[in-house]
Amino acid sequence: MVRVSKVEAESIAAELGIVPGTELLSVNGRELADFLDWEFLGADEELVIEARLPDGETVVYEVERPEDEPFGVELEPPTVRRCANRCEFCFIEGLPKGLRKNLYVRDDDYRLSFAYGNFATLSNLKDRDIARIIEYRLSPLYVSVHATPWEARKVLLNNPRVPNVVDQLARLKAGGIQYHSQMVIVPGLNDGDVLEQSFTDLWNLGDAVLSVAIVPVGTTQFSHLYTGKAMDAPNATRLLEVVERWEARALAERGDRWVFASDELYLLAGRELPGVEHYGNFEQIENGVGAVTSLRQRVAEGLDMLPRLDGKRIAVVTGISMAPLMPDLLAQIADRTGAAFEVVPTTNSLFGVTVTTAGLLVGADIRRALGGRTDFDMALIPAETINDAGLFLDDESFVAVRESFPFPVYPSYDFIDVLSLEGEPSLQAA
Ligand code: SF4
Repeated sequence: MVRVSKVEAESIAAELGIVPGTELLSVNGRELADFLDWEFLGADEELVIEARLPDGETVVYEVERPEDEPFGVELEPPTVRRCANRCEFCFIEGLPKGLRKNLYVRDDDYRLSFAYGNFATLSNLKDRDIARIIEYRLSPLYVSVHATPWEARKVLLNNPRVPNVVDQLARLKAGGIQYHSQMVIVPGLNDGDVLEQSFTDLWNLGDAVLSVAIVPVGTTQFSHLYTGKAMDAPNATRLLEVVERWEARALAERGDRWVFASDELYLLAGRELPGVEHYGNFEQIENGVGAVTSLRQRVAEGLDMLPRLDGKRIAVVTGISMAPLMPDLLAQIADRTGAAFEVVPTTNSLFGVTVTTAGLLVGADIRRALGGRTDFDMALIPAETINDAGLFLDDESFVAVRESFPFPVYPSYDFIDVLSLEGEPSLQAA
């Protein structure tokens, strides 16, 4: 169902009398199943739109729309396609009980893969979906491949009915679709020969595969499905060697790195992270590929924007994995501003000590990290820990946490975002 949630004033839709709650039924004789149909079929300049108004009346609108003039509606969010897998390493299976409901939604939806860059396994893809992807040119997609050998993939995804992903990718390639891919590596299940075969199969798909991200498995204290071995320093080192061998081949034969290891893999292996030139357009940054390098770049570029902050004492709360990287970064900011920084490495009380990412710290962790301290002028916490509604993953509100301290606390992505505003009224009021 495609239902209007908002109508822009003075838009074509408003002039037609479309109101929030109107169902859009068909465009030019083709039924609308979801937002993709509307987006693609509704892009024509001449439209015959069948709609049902909230009072039940069915109306047919004939519209000639000037090129580039938006129709003027926003749609209700789509019903998300649920995942049919139970992956070994599924983070959602590793969540504790009692969190807010939407955190437990396991989506696996090619439409969101195209629209928002969410990774999808394509396990629930039907023939008609593939036809639709090709017709609407939903490219690039973001595909969780994990392993190409069929049997290995069934085990990893805990799903005996998972289709052969190489066949699926080949059909998409034949239809002109490209994709970024990722493999979450579980030692003993999809490293070694399975990984080698996976690289070979993806390589043979040619320029349809835009990039491959290699991400080490991460488990929480609640990951009850996990049967693999731990991802430790020797495993991470071996994986990086394989990645670098394929990277060298890709650079030599195609002039492109093609495969990227996530930051965590370098950190686990105790290796220095590559520089900015390594990551190109940072295509897989949402996957933790190049995030630290990007942060370093933003800090270096933002130093000139910072005011003097002489005498200020600033706490920086972060996760255990990022803490060793902080002193170098903060030294540059201290040099420039005169402020004194204290890194406060913090363990994760909700997911357990194996989860060391700064962005997954919860409200209780921030309270614990800064509790009892009165000697700061300001504290910066990872902005990724707070959602659009101002909540941490443990449902603590940022406002409540902030108000429990005698100094201001700011969510920050890269320090520059907050410190460059120091002294501005909007910041002082926060
Ligand atoms: S595809 Fe796997 S990791 Fe993703 S939600 Fe489903 S079970 Fe979890």
